Amino acid sequence: MRIGCPKEIKPQEFRVGMTPAAALEAVNHGHEVLIETGAGLGSGFEDAEYVTAGARIADSAEEVFAEADMIVKVKEPQAVERKRLREGQVLFTYLHLAPDPDQTRDLLESGATCIAYETVTDRTGGLPLLAPMSEVAGRLAPQVGAWTLQKANGGRGTLLGGVPGVGPASVVVIGGGVVGTHAARIAAGMGADVTVLDRSLPRLRYLDDVFGSVFRTRYASAGNVAEMVLGADLVIGAVLIPGAAAPKLVTRDQLPQMKTGAAIVDVAIDQGGCFETSKATTHENPIYEVDGVMHYCVANMPGAVARTSTLALGNATLPFLLSLADHGWKAACAADPHLAAGLNVHAGQITYRAVGDALGLTS
Ligand code: NAD
Repeated sequence: MRIGCPKEIKPQEFRVGMTPAAALEAVNHGHEVLIETGAGLGSGFEDAEYVTAGARIADSAEEVFAEADMIVKVKEPQAVERKRLREGQVLFTYLHLAPDPDQTRDLLESGATCIAYETVTDRTGGLPLLAPMSEVAGRLAPQVGAWTLQKANGGRGTLLGGVPGVGPASVVVIGGGVVGTHAARIAAGMGADVTVLDRSLPRLRYLDDVFGSVFRTRYASAGNVAEMVLGADLVIGAVLIPGAAAPKLVTRDQLPQMKTGAAIVDVAIDQGGCFETSKATTHENPIYEVDGVMHYCVANMPGAVARTSTLALGNATLPFLLSLADHGWKAACAADPHLAAGLNVHAGQITYRAVGDALGLTS
């Protein structure tokens, strides 16, 4: 099969769908790999590294789309890219179709077979192609939270780990899933005093078993959340209710009771955020202040560390990519129901019920 990887064109997107390592594996499996020139630069990969891996460099995105049997990307195809897709071609990337009727219409019209990273599943019921980005965002959260707490950024001027003779900052993580667990680990590693709140008792038991005294756990009742947030230097929002907007767990009238200069990092902002005062920000302008509390609400946190994010995503997509290339999408999906769960659009039909329901297109 000929696999094509164009350069991402969505603003501020520096990741790339295939690393040189992925290209090498695909070539070793007997496939041809076509990479648009400069596609890897945002993640620190030169064209020459792809050539060494056995890939061919294309001069333009048009060439990649025209020649490839399968297109591998990161972000949903932009309007100009959607026009280049054709019947019989496979598209493997993040799609997030449910809130995006324009993209859905174009993909249906293209006749292409579109497999979405975000709905591929694993044996434990997890989402293996979303998890790496949650790991990245979770590990980044204490880092950006520590920066937000610095005086020059409007923060309280508190160092997460303290110093000998001065106690550490209090970090409260709401939601102990993938993001929350990684955030808590890193914050604890930086020397902070960390508490994780979750509404799932099995999850709290798991965290307690695995992490012991590295950080504390508490049940996320409204009373416990309020008590912990009011005493915190840094609060990290990491809740998820699958398929729903994030619940608002901290209200505006609570902010004046928080410490002046405390910081909020609302990782759940891509689902609307779990603080009433959260609104999405960008890497260029990541923080703002409300009632003396600094808010960091970047919706695409992994973009800040594009190289790590590309490598992490590439590790997770590679086995599926090879399966699609080796067997063709039909046989690969027939053999693997978890990959089949990623099939969102095929030959002008929506093949993922939740997307059809969300757009009122279920037959
Ligand atoms: P996850 O499903 O692994 O974890 C979510 C946790 O929230 C679960 O343990 C669940 O029990 C808990 N929870 C649900 N309701 C709660 C409540 N009311 N109080 C306390 N805990 C509650 O999800 P995840 O992968 O960790 O993702 C967390 C959030 O981060 C999601 O909204 C996700 O979209 C977002 N995210 C954002 C970025 C970004 O760049 N901003 C990147 C990755 C993920």
